[in-house]
Amino acid sequence: MVQQDADKHSKAATRIEELRALLHRANRAYYVDAAPFMSDGEFDVLLTELSTLEQSHPELHDPHSPTMRVGGEASSGFESAPHRVPMSSIGNTYSLAEFETWYARALQLLGVSELTLFGDPKIDGVALSLRYEQGVLVQALTRGDGEKGDVVTANVRAIRAIPLRLDGTTRAIPAVLEVRGEVYMPTSVFNSINVEREREGDELFQNARNATSGTLKSKDPKVVADRRLAFSAHGRGECEGLTVASHAEFLRALRELGIPVSPLGSTFASQHEAALAIEKFAHARGGLEFGVDGMVVRVDSFALQEILGSTAKSPRWAIAYKYPAEQAKTILLDVVWQVGKGGTITPRATMQPVRVAGSTIQHATLHNIEEIQRRDLRIGDTVLVEKAGEVIPQVIAVVLEARTGREIPIEAPTHCPACQSEVEKDGPKIYCTNAACSAQFREKVKWFVGRDQMDVDGLGGEIIDRLIDAGLIASFADVFLFDAMRIARALTAARAAEGAEKRGEDAQERIDKAFAKLEKDGPGAQALGIIAAAEASKSRGLGRVLAGLGIRHIGASAAKTLARRFKDANELMRATEADLEALDDFGEVTASSVSHWLHSSAAQTIFAELANAGVDLTSKDTSAPAMLNSFFNGKTVVITGTLETISRSALTEQLEGLGAKVAGSVSKKTHIVIAGTEAGSKLDKAIELGVEVWDEARLQQALAASG
Ligand SMILES: [Zn+2]
Repeated sequence: MVQQDADKHSKAATRIEELRALLHRANRAYYVDAAPFMSDGEFDVLLTELSTLEQSHPELHDPHSPTMRVGGEASSGFESAPHRVPMSSIGNTYSLAEFETWYARALQLLGVSELTLFGDPKIDGVALSLRYEQGVLVQALTRGDGEKGDVVTANVRAIRAIPLRLDGTTRAIPAVLEVRGEVYMPTSVFNSINVEREREGDELFQNARNATSGTLKSKDPKVVADRRLAFSAHGRGECEGLTVASHAEFLRALRELGIPVSPLGSTFASQHEAALAIEKFAHARGGLEFGVDGMVVRVDSFALQEILGSTAKSPRWAIAYKYPAEQAKTILLDVVWQVGKGGTITPRATMQPVRVAGSTIQHATLHNIEEIQRRDLRIGDTVLVEKAGEVIPQVIAVVLEARTGREIPIEAPTHCPACQSEVEKDGPKIYCTNAACSAQFREKVKWFVGRDQMDVDGLGGEIIDRLIDAGLIASFADVFLFDAMRIARALTAARAAEGAEKRGEDAQERIDKAFAKLEKDGPGAQALGIIAAAEASKSRGLGRVLAGLGIRHIGASAAKTLARRFKDANELMRATEADLEALDDFGEVTASSVSHWLHSSAAQTIFAELANAGVDLTSKDTSAPAMLNSFFNGKTVVITGTLETISRSALTEQLEGLGAKVAGSVSKKTHIVIAGTEAGSKLDKAIELGVEVWDEARLQQALAASG
């Protein structure tokens, strides 16, 4: 028996090693060598297998396993840390003449007649500095102000393109390696995220760079993992034990060590060669899988870079040539005021369709009424629109010479376009504050059924619109009280009417025909699917319901906090303002606003209706009320270093179950830091702030006592 167990154990150990090596290789092949040998699906299957094996063999834990990218370390905020070598930005120019001047100056300063240059595309992303010590990724910082940046290590670990550990097979691993590069979102990923966000009724990301930056600052590394960010290295910070004489050599070394670098970089023997490449690339860049807004050209030799040095602002040895944004002229046809789920009313431009940067655009955001007035924008105006890697186009200026005098000034609405109630103004922002506003309700329902809330599959924005138009959804609870035949009729009628309009046929006749078919065939898969999905979503629990109701100040994380503290909706509705204020992250304003809402008759109606519709309003985050007496309840805990007795994710789950909040970074609010072996900067920080530090033995004692 013992022998059998030992065999089983060693088999598992072998398989774990095999899987780890294979998945590391697959990542490298995909992100560094651009030669994938495994599909995403296959990768996920193997990753799940590895994760399952690791869970049943916690003794084989390895913090650098491919499963450890998302370590359950949700961040509560981002601390900043200094750059050991400042991360200065590179001087920009839009003119080839200026580029020539830059080169001439470098020749003059160095007293030479020719220089080898290195040029690579300037990817429109977010600059990061990655620090590897003994080959292990220990820190990731954003650029920040160049002197210090935000620590985003936990999120960066979730980016598959970035190795957690350097590859030492072809080159010795340097003692310290700081790599600067651009993390970015491939265009296809960006587009699919925006399609999804539109469907979910979320605000769209303006461009891939904003989406990347938002993703990096996400509080949940799982979000980062899902977003498929890419990385391309382009510079160095502190380095120890890496002998390279030029930028080209440096990039080659990075590639060997398993860090992705752009395949489009190249050396040039002269300024003339580089200028030709810049011009040629202006056309090629539109066809790339990512946004490129220019080309960075630098003196290749590190020794010469050293001699050239830097000005106060930027290095003299490099320059960024930027391509001008693409613009086009069109006519502003109309401004539509849209009501969001929180009541914000924002202007959206409808323009005569025009081609810009490879796509046809018809709409642009106008931000707010002050922006419109500042530009003196009028309906009928000829406007200049721009798309500079921006997916949501911008109206840049009014072409005043084209005015005929017939243009119509744009006024801010005094009443909500949907419910006609008077609007409220807050600076340049306009709100509809009518709690019963039909447009707000429409957006709220779309939010409520969205993936991170009740997650009712199959209920997209357009379908919600049709069901609301047909009078099938008048409250949140109605989502759970659908009748299949009525859904089918509503959707069928809308489609038939649309089809009839397109073909110029009689709508009623078409609808009658479609209904007759419906009576014969039954409601069909779509309607039944929606009902099944709504049924399944009833059991998501209080936290998800709260996150979905669009209560002011209550997003996903605050909803979770409430669901952890209160065992069901009834207990929550009895909470006093003081109870709420005692919660993590609940300030006075939030507590007062939420308490006000909870005690309103509207809230009581919503909860009563949901309960009647069979929606589970008990908390899923706290199983045992006993938890409230646990030592860990309400404590903020940070885990650091390698733990011997338990995996980090298992410990996080256990602590959260006991009511603790497990944070990603140490701050004054931290109650306990649990330090395993090889604990690094978090331990230092804890000591510096005088936060209580526990070793594993102490942890186990406390866990045993919390039972
Ligand atoms: Zn309204």
